[in-house]
Amino acid sequence: MKGNMQSWGPNVAQIIEHARVNSPNVEVVSRLVSGEIHRTNYSEVCIRARKLGSALLKKGYKEGDVLASLALNSYRHLEAYFGVSGIGAVMHTLNFRLHPEQLVYVINHAEDKIIFVEVPFIPLLEAIKDSISDVQEFVVLCDKGEIPENSLNNVISYEEFIEDGDENFIWPKIDEDAACGLCYTSGTTGNPKGVLYSHKSNTLHALTAISSLDVSSDDVILMVVPMFHVNAWSIPFYAPLVGLKIVMPGMQMEGQPLYDLIDGENVTFAFGVPTVWMGLLGYCKSENLVLSSIKKTVIGGSALSLSLLKDLHETHDIDVIQGWGMTETSPLGTTNLVTPEMRKMPKEEMYQLQLKQGRACYGVELKIVDDSGNDLPNDGEAQGHLLIRGPWVIKRYFKAEKDATDKNGWFDTGDISTIDQDGYMTIVDRAKDVIKTGGEWISSIDLENAAVSHPDVVEACVVGLPHPKWDERPLMVIVTNGNSLSKDDVIDFLTDKVAKWWLPDEVVFVDELPHGATGKLLKYELRDKYENLYMEN
Ligand code: AMP
Repeated sequence: MKGNMQSWGPNVAQIIEHARVNSPNVEVVSRLVSGEIHRTNYSEVCIRARKLGSALLKKGYKEGDVLASLALNSYRHLEAYFGVSGIGAVMHTLNFRLHPEQLVYVINHAEDKIIFVEVPFIPLLEAIKDSISDVQEFVVLCDKGEIPENSLNNVISYEEFIEDGDENFIWPKIDEDAACGLCYTSGTTGNPKGVLYSHKSNTLHALTAISSLDVSSDDVILMVVPMFHVNAWSIPFYAPLVGLKIVMPGMQMEGQPLYDLIDGENVTFAFGVPTVWMGLLGYCKSENLVLSSIKKTVIGGSALSLSLLKDLHETHDIDVIQGWGMTETSPLGTTNLVTPEMRKMPKEEMYQLQLKQGRACYGVELKIVDDSGNDLPNDGEAQGHLLIRGPWVIKRYFKAEKDATDKNGWFDTGDISTIDQDGYMTIVDRAKDVIKTGGEWISSIDLENAAVSHPDVVEACVVGLPHPKWDERPLMVIVTNGNSLSKDDVIDFLTDKVAKWWLPDEVVFVDELPHGATGKLLKYELRDKYENLYMEN
């Protein structure tokens, strides 16, 4: 028997309409490219998103068109999130750190018709303009007179583009499964693959994020996570839903400008990948500063280390919430909220629990399977391929011919994990990064985390290299804080922290580690570089 209730067409533009009515004066703060702080509010963002939506329709763009952004976190980018998707077009967020060849690939693969571009990124487009000739128009995110000299065709400023838009525009009704946004995976091997979110998936995901991250209207969120990567972890959707103030740092992501922004805007809740935190905390340490306004932080994208967790908790009195997810999961899969039980635990026990990636958010299911696809127990010991399914998990990559899921709807995340009796999932490694040695597995993440707990180690990366006897053996590559360290110092330090057979055969010191377009370590570069190290010995 069917229920007798009404059906639902969740156009994401209804979110910004909701904020206009319920939280019209709540601030949206952006640091502009010039460094100047710009202030607007949800009422203004909504009215200008309406103008953008109606201007797009007037100019002939329509439902189903893919329109891209190559932009920073700023109020105009936020308006575009709603203005573009709200008319049924698809917001394709481009990653400005992509290699030009990959940028060309994704723009052409998506068939982008417009690119909304931030002034500093115009040269990126000029360099590839002959290879993206299907793009009809470039809308520069600036005021009328601010477009710099450039060689692109059909360029208009955003302010001129929306000038004739209708402030009273009414959003069209669109199908709940209609495409809303498009984001390509980072693609460390092969071409990037597109994940096409729907209005329903983005809305349900935002609703769940509120409880899974314990978000409230008192929070002031620092959105360091880029809007080009998985919808900035959904903040642009749930912040207006809850009606909380957002602060966007623009280009300046270094320690001092971030600290000043946090302090000046009274940020209470900050979101970022571990590398951003390392820079900020390094600055705080050198200047003897404490992040006194921040109460909570969400860290995800890469594993949280014990040293980062301790520094945030003990020096800055910040509750750390680890989150795990991926482009294919919108991104939230698990979160690890600080619970009342945790607070009663001895500190070290609480930290061990917090280092786990967390429990499934309401709406998604997780399981682990062995190499043959058989279910493994949730006993905290068995390690297997992590599978996920749920309403904001991918079914099929954009324009792919077959589904990315198995017949029961499970998507293989490519991560190797354990799940314990209480439902806490722990990432052991990416399946391709786990080190297979003598028939056993070594977690490169655990080794890295052990190394960064050394006071002189700033960053560590561990990869498995081919070995004539053991199949693979670990190599550790380290960036220090400038103090001198030897291989023996590192091995001595690790000896009581990991099993003896986990100890890296070699330790190499470098000035910098390679990071990809979303801040993740590019392990394949190190594997390639040192490929023959153990084969030659
Ligand atoms: P992306 O699609 O680029 O966001 O990358 C997703 C991948 O990042 C996941 O499959 C994990 O391997 C990794 N990842 C995300 N969050 C975490 C986390 N909290 N701990 C460890 N790895 C993570």
